[in-house]
Amino acid sequence: MRLGQKGGDKMVYKCGEKPGIGRYICTKCGAPKNLDNSTDTLAPCSRCRNCTFNKV
Ligand SMILES: [Zn+2]
Repeated sequence: MRLGQKGGDKMVYKCGEKPGIGRYICTKCGAPKNLDNSTDTLAPCSRCRNCTFNKV
């Protein structure tokens, strides 16, 4: 059995989660969001209120 690689799927993070330190972009408008703290909660996009993000 091989693990990993499931045909190009991306990790999606939703607002309200605490995905950890890193840079995230809105899946809808592409606005960047930085989390500086591992306890920070991902907030909805400040531009379009979208609630899903990809990690960069
Ligand atoms: Zn957005």
